[in-house]
Amino acid sequence: MLTRFAPSPTGELHLGHAYSAVLAHSAARAAGGRFVLRIDDIDGSRSREEYVAASLADLAWLGIDWDGEPVRQSQRLADYAAALDTLRARDLVYPCFCTRADIAASLSAPHGPSGAIYPGTCCNLAAEDRARRIAAGEAHCWRLAMDRAAAQAGDLAWEEQGQRMRPADPRAHGDIVLARKDAPASYHLASTLDDANMGVTHVVRGADLIASTDVHRLLQELLDLPTPVYRHHGLICGLDGKRLAKRDAAASLASLRAAGVDGRALAADLRAGRLPTGYSLQNP
Ligand code: GLU
Repeated sequence: MLTRFAPSPTGELHLGHAYSAVLAHSAARAAGGRFVLRIDDIDGSRSREEYVAASLADLAWLGIDWDGEPVRQSQRLADYAAALDTLRARDLVYPCFCTRADIAASLSAPHGPSGAIYPGTCCNLAAEDRARRIAAGEAHCWRLAMDRAAAQAGDLAWEEQGQRMRPADPRAHGDIVLARKDAPASYHLASTLDDANMGVTHVVRGADLIASTDVHRLLQELLDLPTPVYRHHGLICGLDGKRLAKRDAAASLASLRAAGVDGRALAADLRAGRLPTGYSLQNP
């Protein structure tokens, strides 16, 4: 068994991250398996080195040890580019030149699990048009041609903690972005490729990412990657009953540490499903 914890270094870790890391770590250790870290720093404009260091310090404080050096998404760009080339060669992605404002202005842009569903404006541009605009340096992202991709993929079933889930239906996401204008891969593409490359057998993560798994299953099928087992755990809610967010300073691990909380005792409590007073677990 190999599990992972994959923080994005865009803020301080909070109790919800600690819960996720503790579950992933203890699942691996209980099975005599490995536990690895991945730093999801693909978004260069929001990632900060100080948050990488703070996250590692938080994990050490919780008594969580990891195997090997943390993997960094910022060093895996060649793999993301190669996957995009594969999809491009199969005509499953297309360049999109729309701005956010263009998409927001479209009357047919309802929201799906990955944000606004792309209205398809750039889907049917002529090949010469695309080539000319790219050659002229016009900013563009690359989108998955969802209908074609879903039609090519076979069985998108997956296993959630020993239970076979409904087959994923990624079409609700629309033509998602796989490579952004400002980052060489989207979360969906990078995370799916990394989990496969790292040999992750069990993905343990928050239930807020359950809808993303539909897209990840599709990408696994298209790119011939293995399917891990998933465990989407409940989310910790704060004193106001709302899901914790990075801006909730009171629940940050750094502030608990500064207040003298014993990290190892906290990890043992979280492992046993006991939360600090006032916090609650919202199950999926
Ligand atoms: N970096 C992601 C986050 O912090 C986690 C991605 C994942 O577990 O797949 O939300």
